[in-house]
Amino acid sequence: MSSPGKLRLLSKLSEGSIERFEPTVTDEGRVKYTEVEDLLTRLDGTSREALNTLAERGLLAQEYTTKIYVCPSCQTDGMQYITACPSCDATNTLRTTFFEHESCDYTGESIEFEGENGTDTYYCPNCKDELDSSEMDITQKHLCKECSEPFERPNHRLWCLDCLHLCAPEKATEQTLYQYELTEDGKNWYEVQTSARTRLADELTTRGFNVHVDTNVHKDENKSYPVHLHAEDDLLNHQIVADIHSTVNPDKLRYISTAAREIQARPLLLTIDDRVPDDILQIANERGVTMLWVDRDDSIRRYESLGDEHRSGVNIIDRLSSAVGLTSREGS
Ligand SMILES: [Zn+2]
Ligand SMILES: [Zn+2]
Ligand SMILES: [Zn+2]
Repeated sequence: MSSPGKLRLLSKLSEGSIERFEPTVTDEGRVKYTEVEDLLTRLDGTSREALNTLAERGLLAQEYTTKIYVCPSCQTDGMQYITACPSCDATNTLRTTFFEHESCDYTGESIEFEGENGTDTYYCPNCKDELDSSEMDITQKHLCKECSEPFERPNHRLWCLDCLHLCAPEKATEQTLYQYELTEDGKNWYEVQTSARTRLADELTTRGFNVHVDTNVHKDENKSYPVHLHAEDDLLNHQIVADIHSTVNPDKLRYISTAAREIQARPLLLTIDDRVPDDILQIANERGVTMLWVDRDDSIRRYESLGDEHRSGVNIIDRLSSAVGLTSREGS
């Protein structure tokens, strides 16, 4: 399968409770896929990493939504556009009205030309002439409040909401954001995986286990392992933890055996793949992980130890009795 966190993402889309995962940029300038973060565990990385992994596997389709700029100083996402003074780079500037007295060439802010309170008369602050609007050129300019320099075109800048770093747009890292939807392949994949999990849960329930799917196991609260399935038989003091994966690799074997060791459980790994390479089976053997697979008739079967072909026609009812054993793991 995928990690329990990623599987939860797919389940939201598959069940239609969420149509797609869309990015938002928070007030602090961080990109968030809000619903995604609540579903993931520490094993899944950031929400963007988890979604990208699923997209690379073809389970999700990504569609362009927007671009953001990442702060070159502190790596915070979502820098914001701001204008700055071309002389001193201060951002404390404003766009205001300027008058130019055509005959003496003096240019200044409109406020400098205003007469006494309440009168409509304008005076040139340079030559003191009384002016009417026909003698003045009226323009809009930017004025820097730091260095008092008026200017026509401001500098384009980006600023970081987190560390307040200011830079030219080309200095920031451009990052493309996508929204993610379930593909047809993703939908099928999800169904195969969850039906395998349900199948295994049913088998274990039939055998008297108390089964929890999509759960965490832990000895102490601080070190919790998300697993696809946890089964307990309190009477015989047996516990099983199981993960379901389309393909198996050493990391997945290591993970389930570590999770199992934590609570003295038996590790199972159910794979949809009926061709697991010998070196993987070897590692499973060494780590004490029982390898199961689902055949075309939807029956769960057990891989015999290395060297044996899996014997078809014998289903889990026979196989799992040896997998689970009647003694607890410590005794075996
Ligand atoms: Zn920054
Ligand atoms: Zn300035
Ligand atoms: Zn003048």
